[in-house]
Amino acid sequence: MKIPLLTKLDRKILHSTDERVKLLHEIGIETVEDFLQFYPRTHEDFSTPTHLSQLRADQKNLLAGIFLKVWKETVKHRMKLTKATFIEKESGSEIECVWFNNPSIADRIPINKAVLISAKAKLGFGKISLQSPDFEMITNAIYLGRISPVYREHGKLKSSWIRQKIYDLIDEVQSFENILPPSIRQEEGLMDRNQAIREIHFPSTKEKLILAKKTIAFEELFLLQISALQRKKVWEKEGRGESLQIPLEPELIKSFFDILPFTPTNSQKISIFEVLKDFEKPVPMLRLLEGDVGSGKTLVALAAAIPIIKRGAQIAFLAPTEILARQHAQGIQKLLKPFDKEIKVELLTGGIKGKKRDEILTNVRLGKIHILVGTHALIEESVIFQKLGFVVIDEQHRFGVKQRELLIKKGSPHVLQMTATPIPRTLAIVAFGDQDLSVLTELPPGRKTIITKVAPPSGRVQIERFIVSETEKGRQGFIICPLVEESEKLEVKAATEEFIRLESVFPQLKLGLLHGRMKSKEKEQIMKDFQEKKFDLLVSTAVVEVGVDIPNASMIIIEGAERFGLAQLHQFRGRVGRGKHQSYCFLFPTEKPTKRLQAMENEHCGFRLAEIDLEMRGSGQIFGIRQSGMPDMKMADISDGRIVVQARNAAENFLDTQNLAEFPKIRESLKLMEQVSET
Ligand code: ADP
Ligand code: MG
Repeated sequence: MKIPLLTKLDRKILHSTDERVKLLHEIGIETVEDFLQFYPRTHEDFSTPTHLSQLRADQKNLLAGIFLKVWKETVKHRMKLTKATFIEKESGSEIECVWFNNPSIADRIPINKAVLISAKAKLGFGKISLQSPDFEMITNAIYLGRISPVYREHGKLKSSWIRQKIYDLIDEVQSFENILPPSIRQEEGLMDRNQAIREIHFPSTKEKLILAKKTIAFEELFLLQISALQRKKVWEKEGRGESLQIPLEPELIKSFFDILPFTPTNSQKISIFEVLKDFEKPVPMLRLLEGDVGSGKTLVALAAAIPIIKRGAQIAFLAPTEILARQHAQGIQKLLKPFDKEIKVELLTGGIKGKKRDEILTNVRLGKIHILVGTHALIEESVIFQKLGFVVIDEQHRFGVKQRELLIKKGSPHVLQMTATPIPRTLAIVAFGDQDLSVLTELPPGRKTIITKVAPPSGRVQIERFIVSETEKGRQGFIICPLVEESEKLEVKAATEEFIRLESVFPQLKLGLLHGRMKSKEKEQIMKDFQEKKFDLLVSTAVVEVGVDIPNASMIIIEGAERFGLAQLHQFRGRVGRGKHQSYCFLFPTEKPTKRLQAMENEHCGFRLAEIDLEMRGSGQIFGIRQSGMPDMKMADISDGRIVVQARNAAENFLDTQNLAEFPKIRESLKLMEQVSET
């Protein structure tokens, strides 16, 4: 009898220890099914042995032969070496193998038995040897001599152990049922699911491995798209007031453009048009506006706000920090005043209390305030709109789904989410499949390129001198401390230490410190002081988004730069270059500059940088994507965008032509997926 897939993994079934079972639980593997869906991180191709005569340096080589003898040596620094002579079967040539500080290995090396070994070849002590080879008897070779899986390790859970256990289990368990209907599998040329899962762990050929990965990735993406398209439908169906359907009035928008102190960019015009077209539809808008820092997203939101106000409805403008909210309130006021001085813009933050707050709340309820800008304070229950027609969410990734929902539920508004995280279009389809997308692809004209330099630690002194000379000319700069992902407390500590160090590096300058553990009042005071030039350099932790306009700041220095994604570095860089001065961005990696970082020097388009990151680090690593609501995916690494588009099209087609109710397996999988994403 085969083991059911939902069987709990325990010591008995794994023939292992409680400790290992516990470690598996820690990474979310509870059942046999979970375990078999723990897919390899990568594979090593050991399918054809190398020959000693063609040994590749610094790469894994696979050789077939025998061990002849084993001995031990102790060398300098009391390093214990275990050595063995290996004779290649085909040529009879020999090579020395070395293991370091692992004396017990000697007892496990089989002598005079046919083995496969895999190891890197290295030059040392004047000759080539194989370092710490893995070996396996040919009679029971599991993984050598084939394309072999490599798993992500977790503490004592080693890849080799996982490989052995999956190998032992995979034939003993019930088969996986197909989720995708046969028609789709056929159309897309995909494998049977059961076969795909086997081939992913222990592929019979390279081609089968590729197809197996594609099958599983497609399945994940297909389900995600079905789920997104359904959310979209629900969003469009939920009770909507008629007044929200607003016919486009080109004259109105044109008259607004006329009073602006600048001409909107083409991208801005297109995005505004896309939004206004959405307003004409009988369903509420749900749109994501992507645009680099400084591309002028606020103007798009503002232009859209005008017809809403004209309809007697209100706008909630949500920003993640008090500083940003305040800045938006002021900026919006400034742009709208000349257009229509009757439009009332108000700011609401957690810091506004007592009588002032009551007054604002009353006026919002009575519809006397047209645009309410604020932080999380907008979400509170006491904030009641007379008629909420439009919600703008700036830096949307900074808010949770629940928070956004609470605000949206205060009316039946159109929703525009904005993000400066440059997300390549294919990724956006995955992360924001339920939204429409507008992209600002250009910056307003006349912006100067920010001169960017990646400097090794040795280049520091020169740059420090440059920083001092710029401050002498009256310029200011930001210094961003390395990202400490583990805890905010540690990050604050690191930043404080850095601050103290920098005070000694720049004794002639005045420095400020900004970090996430400060009260919002304090933070605001510091930004204000910085704006008023009370200090030259502002040292800040990476978590504090210095999302403020300080036109006089012309330098940004980023420490530990390699820890950041390119898109995030680009966002930091956008903090400068906002005034009339030539601006600079200095990136200090902890070690030698990498090619990835160097892309920052020549590339000034956030989207292109995000694509480079996507190519070089894979989709999981792109900053902001995860926070933006990118679902966890087991298989789909969407560096190849084609499969995303295929899955999207297949899902659209499926929902158009089929009745989901007739596909219980898809529905069950959707439910599971949604449960996971809620936790
Ligand atoms: P972001 O997309 O980063 O939120 P903002 O909306 O804050 O950008 O705009 C950045 C600055 O550029 C603001 O000072 C804004 O007034 C200005 N701006 C916006 N659009 C244009 C334009 N078309 N031409 C010139 N300046 C513009
Ligand atoms: Mg902005």
